[in-house]
Amino acid sequence: MNIPNTMRAAILVKQDSELIIDDVELPRILDIGQVLVKLNVSGICGSQLGEIEGKKGIDPYLPHLMGHEGCGEVLKIGPGVKTVSVGDKVVLHWKKGSGIQSETPKYKWRGEKLNAGWVTTFNEYAVVSENRCTSIPVNINNDDAALFGCAVTTAFGVVENNAKLRFGESVLVFGAGGIGLNIIQASRLTSAWPIIAVDIFDNRLELAKKFGATHVINSKKENIEIALNKIIKEKSLDVFIDNTGIPKIIEKGYELINSKGRVILVGVPPKDSHIKIYSLPLHFGKIILGSHGGECVPDLDIPRYLKLLANKKINFEGLITSRFSLKDINIAINTMRSGSSSGRIVIDL
Ligand SMILES: [Zn+2]
Repeated sequence: MNIPNTMRAAILVKQDSELIIDDVELPRILDIGQVLVKLNVSGICGSQLGEIEGKKGIDPYLPHLMGHEGCGEVLKIGPGVKTVSVGDKVVLHWKKGSGIQSETPKYKWRGEKLNAGWVTTFNEYAVVSENRCTSIPVNINNDDAALFGCAVTTAFGVVENNAKLRFGESVLVFGAGGIGLNIIQASRLTSAWPIIAVDIFDNRLELAKKFGATHVINSKKENIEIALNKIIKEKSLDVFIDNTGIPKIIEKGYELINSKGRVILVGVPPKDSHIKIYSLPLHFGKIILGSHGGECVPDLDIPRYLKLLANKKINFEGLITSRFSLKDINIAINTMRSGSSSGRIVIDL
């Protein structure tokens, strides 16, 4: 199989601007540890919105390709690649798995160098690093497979590795988007109770109930503290999981948990934002902990979670609420920003 000369791809050229969809030239040969993948489906996650909006500050890599969760088929492998084979169905993920970490691919756009990380998914093809793709059985449908790139693995990792939820512990999940809904689903698996979903969109809260939320709070309409105290005893919350990255919400979570409670930070805060907390309780058991993609290890965790999917312990029905083609990716991004789509938004490639 020859590497195609060009592909359509969405390029971030300027922060706070629409992505440009254009032809991009692929490298002519694969380097050590590189894998050529034909993308089928890509998810869009909050990190990409953050990248576009410059949440982490000035972006030194512009222009560059984007996207970090998807699924596709392996078309060709570079020297040294052992963990995937031509024809494999693969999940593309941003967390490192096993295999080689290759050089980043050398694409060109309008004759100039175009940057890309070890994995990108807003493009028809991708040259990815071996350690950013994991083979899965061909019978897993493309949509489910794509979600294993970030939404599912991050969320399940947050519950297993960061929050370490125990039977009967109470958990509040602030932000019921793609990751939040899966955190709720994973919390249900651990028999946490109650599982309280908080969001500002009623459509998301409805979906949250389907995924296992026992109670929901619309924080735009209700005072979260008062609403929470009607559900559980005051100051008895065990775990507060924040998907928003908003300092005021994190501070509120720290106040609401009990003296041995945990606040888990999943949403990434804007650059230079600070939180203000009374730190003494940290010496006596309160925990505040940042998650890095749920500390998941894709090649170990994905097969485990796939067993749950195969045995109907988890499902992703209704999780994808909008889908767009690559040419409409800017509409997809605006839809995500507006919150009008309750679940995950995907791109068909
Ligand atoms: Zn993500």
